[in-house]
Amino acid sequence: TFAPRWVAAMLTTVLGTSAGGGAATSLGELDRQAGDGDFGTNLTSAFTRVQDEIAATSPQTFTAWLTAVSRGFLGTGGTSGPLFGMFFRDIARCAAGDSPTLTELADGLTAAVATVQRYGKPQVGHKTMVDALVPAAQKLSEQAAAGVDPVRALNASAEAARAGALTTRDIVARRGRASYVGEVARGVLDPGAAAVALMIQCAAAAVAG
Ligand code: ADP
Ligand code: MG
Ligand code: MG
Repeated sequence: TFAPRWVAAMLTTVLGTSAGGGAATSLGELDRQAGDGDFGTNLTSAFTRVQDEIAATSPQTFTAWLTAVSRGFLGTGGTSGPLFGMFFRDIARCAAGDSPTLTELADGLTAAVATVQRYGKPQVGHKTMVDALVPAAQKLSEQAAAGVDPVRALNASAEAARAGALTTRDIVARRGRASYVGEVARGVLDPGAAAVALMIQCAAAAVAG
């Protein structure tokens, strides 16, 4: 089913496998170029905690799986830890049953993005994770309302997240540590936005089976 596949895909993407390293390394490198350099270790420790949560709780429902992800992030430092923690807590709450409907997932994503914006105060264009999250949520809601099938809808949302993340490259930051370095951040992709694009891509892969 969807939740264990999504979580497994994120773990593999971020942490890597015995065959090779995960995205945490290159995302951490982006934070070194325009932030304080800890994003890679923050992500690695969050997903390591996610693995511990899964081992300790044996999640059986969508809510339990995504709660494990939330708790992994909530236990982690950096700005991204609590923001992703609250983000995944809202996602965890979106489904009553075992797997969310496309509409439930779209509503959950929309609520989760609103929570991130309430706490972090970022608007689109401030060079944060929100630059990928807002277009991803908008696209998923549009697709759900249009009755598009889940595989195509999630793929369209992932593509919107990717395009949104890419827009962060050519701007300076208005939020987060990258805002302290001014023009130095121009030319550097925002690692939080890039991470979001990967997370939504993992969801799309999970729904496709
Ligand atoms: P820190 O800046 O505390 O070291 P991390 O390195 O863990 O935090 O995370 C950095 C990421 O967090 C950035 O790439 C950005 O996407 C996101 N971020 C930073 N500040 C904010 C904010 N105020 N609102 C939303 N996202 C933010
Ligand atoms: Mg950092
Ligand atoms: Mg930091």
